[in-house]
Amino acid sequence: MFLCIYYICIAGYTLTMHEVALMSSILDTLRESAVQNGISNITQIKLVVGKFSMALPDSLLFAFEALGQEELFMGAVLEIEERDINCICHDCRQSFSLDNDYYFICPNCTGHNTEIISGRELYIDYYEGD
Ligand SMILES: [Zn+2]
Repeated sequence: MFLCIYYICIAGYTLTMHEVALMSSILDTLRESAVQNGISNITQIKLVVGKFSMALPDSLLFAFEALGQEELFMGAVLEIEERDINCICHDCRQSFSLDNDYYFICPNCTGHNTEIISGRELYIDYYEGD
């Protein structure tokens, strides 16, 4: 219970609950996998974060610092690879990627009939430990 209150205090100042909740579930997954594989110290974690997952890498790193205060994660390096948002236009079949804007307009035919095909992902690519 103390830990829960602690997390929410940190979140109130510097984080959105989105990244805290995501990181919390990522750490749960890692704990479970580490137990299954007899790993007691994780040294490296690589995450893939699509830009449309709306999780900010800096906030995820901060959440990791705040939530990963236990033996298993001591000294672990968290690497985050951001993936662009890729869309397809249903009018002209052109695919295109969005960088830091969220204008879902086809750059080829300026149509609005577009769909996101990747960029929502958020997953653990791999982790290392012993
Ligand atoms: Zn188009």
